[in-house]
Amino acid sequence: IPVGNKKPDWLRVKLPVGKKYTELRGLVDKYKLNTICTSGSCPNMGECWGDGTATFMILGNICTRSCGFCGVKTGKPETVEWDEPEKVARSIKIMSIEHAVITSVDRDDLKDGGSIIWAETIAAIRRANPNTTMETLIPDFQGDTKNIDRLIAAAPEVISHNIETVRRLTREVRIQAQYDRSLEVLRYIKAQGQRRTKSGIMLGLGEKKEEVFESLRDLANANVDVVTLGQYLQPSKKHLPVKEYITPELFKEYEVYAKSLGFKHVESSALVRSSYHAKKHVN
Ligand code: SF4
Ligand code: SF4
Repeated sequence: IPVGNKKPDWLRVKLPVGKKYTELRGLVDKYKLNTICTSGSCPNMGECWGDGTATFMILGNICTRSCGFCGVKTGKPETVEWDEPEKVARSIKIMSIEHAVITSVDRDDLKDGGSIIWAETIAAIRRANPNTTMETLIPDFQGDTKNIDRLIAAAPEVISHNIETVRRLTREVRIQAQYDRSLEVLRYIKAQGQRRTKSGIMLGLGEKKEEVFESLRDLANANVDVVTLGQYLQPSKKHLPVKEYITPELFKEYEVYAKSLGFKHVESSALVRSSYHAKKHVN
């Protein structure tokens, strides 16, 4: 449905509730922990935290890229903090996180693309939290397999990389990225024996139904295991506008189509973010 003044009912934000949520919120405030869930005021916090899942961002808060949909600042990136892996591992321990999603800004300024800190973060989390499972939502590392291999060797349970939008809109939505390079990264990771790979698409940016179907086929052909589809919402007036609100019926249609392509898990509804229900995607 077209975008009017009023958001449809299904996009109304759920207020986070629950005993576990309240407990974690207290810890996050007390120890000043950094989660994307709180900094992005994600609508799913009650549910995810209640389920022991949270998302952490590493390698700073400033990105070398400037995707039109993304609320992260662009600019000169921060210096690498070598104690960051330990800090994240400690946060996960304090919060007793059962499934951690780790993501980062793009660090095209670094020779290793940030992959050394990535691998050390995974290792530090494992040491401090041997029962915590992990999903690493990674950048494309400009397709450099040396950096990607470092990630795979650190052995997170799930490696994800989002294509974010359909082929035609990629240039507009993620200017420094390439649709085929992202697919190639996903294909490569799976070919190295990674047990679970995952990708996500935001909807409502002006993509056509047939284009979404095509992207789902492209991901299936790259042997991706898990796919997420959610509604794009504009982080601020400076970002790409929402072209339309996808109806629950159309989300369902995409889900049915994706399942017919053989994905192991499909999450498809308005409030889905790429880390929503992430714990399920390990198995
Ligand atoms: Fe955090 Fe992701 Fe869940 Fe949102 S969907 S609360 S960012 S884990
Ligand atoms: Fe945001 Fe990632 Fe794009 Fe950077 S690369 S602007 S963090 S979506």
